Amino acid sequence: MKAFMDQNFLLQTETAQKLYHESAKHLPIIDYHCHLNPREVAEDHRFRSITELWLGGDHYKWRAMRICGTPERCITGDASDYEKWLAFATTMPKLIGNPLYHWTHLELKTAFGIDKILNPKTAREIYEECNEKLQQPEYSARGLMRRYNVEVVCTTDDPIDSLEHHIKCRDDKFECKVLPTWRPDKAMAVESPAAFKAYIDRLAEVSGVEIRSFTTLIDALEVRHRYFESVGCRLSDHGIEEFYAEDYTQQEIEQIFAKVYGGTQLTDEEIRKYKSAMLVEFGVMDHKTGWTQQFHFGVIRNNNSRKMASIGVDTGFDSIGDFTLAKNMAKYLDRLDQQNALTKTILYNLNPKDNEVLATMAYTFNDGTCPGKIQLGSGWWFLDQEDGMKKQMNALSSLGLLSRFVGMLTDSRSFISYPRHEYFRRILCNLIGDWVENGEYPEDFAAAGGLVRDICYQNAVKYFRLEDEKPFCIFFEIRGVNVSLRDHKGKNGVSKSAHAGKPYIIGKHRCPHMVHQHKHHCDNMKTDGG
Ligand SMILES: [Zn+2]
Repeated sequence: MKAFMDQNFLLQTETAQKLYHESAKHLPIIDYHCHLNPREVAEDHRFRSITELWLGGDHYKWRAMRICGTPERCITGDASDYEKWLAFATTMPKLIGNPLYHWTHLELKTAFGIDKILNPKTAREIYEECNEKLQQPEYSARGLMRRYNVEVVCTTDDPIDSLEHHIKCRDDKFECKVLPTWRPDKAMAVESPAAFKAYIDRLAEVSGVEIRSFTTLIDALEVRHRYFESVGCRLSDHGIEEFYAEDYTQQEIEQIFAKVYGGTQLTDEEIRKYKSAMLVEFGVMDHKTGWTQQFHFGVIRNNNSRKMASIGVDTGFDSIGDFTLAKNMAKYLDRLDQQNALTKTILYNLNPKDNEVLATMAYTFNDGTCPGKIQLGSGWWFLDQEDGMKKQMNALSSLGLLSRFVGMLTDSRSFISYPRHEYFRRILCNLIGDWVENGEYPEDFAAAGGLVRDICYQNAVKYFRLEDEKPFCIFFEIRGVNVSLRDHKGKNGVSKSAHAGKPYIIGKHRCPHMVHQHKHHCDNMKTDGG
């Protein structure tokens, strides 16, 4: 029998183990889509308890607790932190086969160094140990990001957001890049005229553009888009039920805008036309700046209206939808491609039936301008568990190219969800390990390890153009010499003369590469004595 979640968890073969431990484990994390609150990073938030950190916003856990019959009071209600914690610990033994069981124990181990099994008997001691550690400075928001070797996070932000927290992180020289993501869902939400008008008025204020028409709305959004670009944004993200690709004329869209802005409810057809036009405009904006556009689709949100009324939206009452996808998605992508305005695109399906549709659709729009230009996104939400990830990667390798995949993201609100990258890396290494062990891929660790490093890290760095964003490559303290440094690609770095006797910090080393490559890269650094 294998040990419970030991160092070789999910790694069934020796090859998988070697690949994971040598090629994947130490790589930094690029979390290119998440829902962290940037204010908490900017303020380096300290958590009052494990309940706040773990149960405060995690609707995965809330769903599981509800399935177990836990009263809402102990989930999102006014129960004390410990009552909520105990309710979750009581749920834990019932979670066999659910990824929460693995994520929870991975998080306890990697964040807090706790190897115990969480259940009602251990609840108290684990609670106290976690809370005690959370009092220590290294368990702040930034401390936790450092602990997990997070190099970049891309949060999810509205076009009217000030991005002040991202700017603060940058100005503080926080070594993890906290970049915004453009998520303009509210500019698409014309179902409710009053809320839409309020949003548009706010957008006008923030952008300084008087919005009187659809055309001026786009002008205002472009102002904000450029602002996001200036703060380091590299991605957009759209949460849509399905792809909208109705035919429309500019005149029709102007009339629809005037109608909804004037407070009149739109017809279904008008809503679809408006959204179709917006998606094209957003696609064109992203193409101009070379961003990557992401589409998360296929969810039916807030199914339970009684719960929505009492607890609010996005509280764990969403499900997989079964929308028809292929024709509209192809029409939308083709519309942009026809005007040579199709930017890099990641498609995240929520229904696993769509894996193959997307994998084949993606390569019809690859045009040689960028490796893996159109991507089938990693298993998302209900699919970011072992079965979902395997199915996604099998579709990708059978029908597309796994090797060009930009890999995993947490999509999380929690500062200790980063073990989801570890979980993904283990599953990936196991998959590649099986191919090698079965004689379906050569026993060439340099090649297989290279694939693993690409998928877990390097592809994302290149695809999202994060290379320029990386901190310079070594922490140097030099006294009384002139120093010139080049980075590992031979590009000239800084050249500084240090003041005699005074330590002079040239740059900070966070080598993004494998530990065994580290030396090679740093050998490229030259110092000239002076
Ligand atoms: Zn998300």
